[in-house]
Amino acid sequence: MRQTLTVNINMQKYTVTTETGLFFRLGNLLAEQYPDKKVAVITDDTIKDIYEEHLVKQLDGAGIQWKLISLPPGEGSKSFDTLPKLYSILLDFQLTRGDVILAFGGGVIGDIAGFTAATFLRGVNLIQLPTTLMAMVDASIGGKNGANLKEGKNMAGTFYQPKEVLIDPGFVRTLPDEILDDGMAEVIKYGCAFDPDLFSDLIDRAEKGDGSGIESIIYRCCLIKKQVIEQDYQDYGVAMLLNFGHTLGHCIEDYYPDGTYTHGQAVAIGMYATTLAAEKRGLTASNTSALLKDLLIAYDLPYTLPENADLSKIVETVKRDKKRRGNTLNLVLLERIGKSYLYQLDKSDFVEFLKID
Ligand code: NAD
Ligand code: ZN
Repeated sequence: MRQTLTVNINMQKYTVTTETGLFFRLGNLLAEQYPDKKVAVITDDTIKDIYEEHLVKQLDGAGIQWKLISLPPGEGSKSFDTLPKLYSILLDFQLTRGDVILAFGGGVIGDIAGFTAATFLRGVNLIQLPTTLMAMVDASIGGKNGANLKEGKNMAGTFYQPKEVLIDPGFVRTLPDEILDDGMAEVIKYGCAFDPDLFSDLIDRAEKGDGSGIESIIYRCCLIKKQVIEQDYQDYGVAMLLNFGHTLGHCIEDYYPDGTYTHGQAVAIGMYATTLAAEKRGLTASNTSALLKDLLIAYDLPYTLPENADLSKIVETVKRDKKRRGNTLNLVLLERIGKSYLYQLDKSDFVEFLKID
């Protein structure tokens, strides 16, 4: 079923369409909306291997003049050093401001293609066509893009809204389980922080175990993200609630060598540890952490660090967080499942807060 919502940020409106099979009408859709425009498709090699044939059929079939630019898969491609290479290919292709950059991939591609679109010729049309669950429910909506510097992740970037976001949930079928679960951690985050019905539906879906219902789950996450960023697209207020589980999650990602925990796994542990501690302190309704733990287990996500993990050392990394200078943390806590709030805490008290005995 096709579902469309409109995001309205700073007087810029764009639609987010969720529809299984949308990819198989991409050619006509682009040709109708951007007649006679060139399209530069930025993707990664894994997605290219799986979907190039369909892409060629779609875009050639609609008579579009287009170019495929493929980067190696992985976070390494989200480097600032990738940009000059992309600009140079776009110049060779003679892409103009009225033309289109299509970001076809996960969050890495969405971010680097988004940054490219925002900065090439001072801004060209951007369409997001996300292929991971993470990118569908989070990265493709809101206009944040980014590139990593050697000093840190996402240290360069802009806010640049796409012209539209096209979500085909069918892409999740080819995602490796671990990457699907990674995105599911963000979906669970939306349920915990904003939507008790989504949380219950996720429990039902896990019990059924047939992978059904993903289309409506994606749509509901997009709706939540829309509602939040329309109020606060630059993350100064209510959008901080989207960081539920992320304060400790980022510490875990920073502390362990690359690849030990995926972003979603680190966030899953962060959500549970924070909720358990808050519950013990009477800041969260009782039994909330148990409900969360069961759901994380049902989606093959971890909820705790190994017993011998040195929490003090892991949490130390919070002080190095380049984006959060100052001593205060805005920790996201759950009042109960589906309702979150900000709780201010001194950074140096974070480890004490998390200790539960
Ligand atoms: P990713 O883009 O690295 O994709 C993960 C892997 O899945 C890649 O190897 C990719 O090749 C593969 N893949 C993608 N789609 C596939 C498909 N349909 N079938 C098979 N394989 C597929 O990872 P991600 O989790 O999508 O994105 C993570 C990035 O997103 C991070 O850099 C993060 O900072 C960024 N992010 C940005 C925002 C934002 O608001 N801008 C929000 C959240 C995350
Ligand atoms: Zn996240």
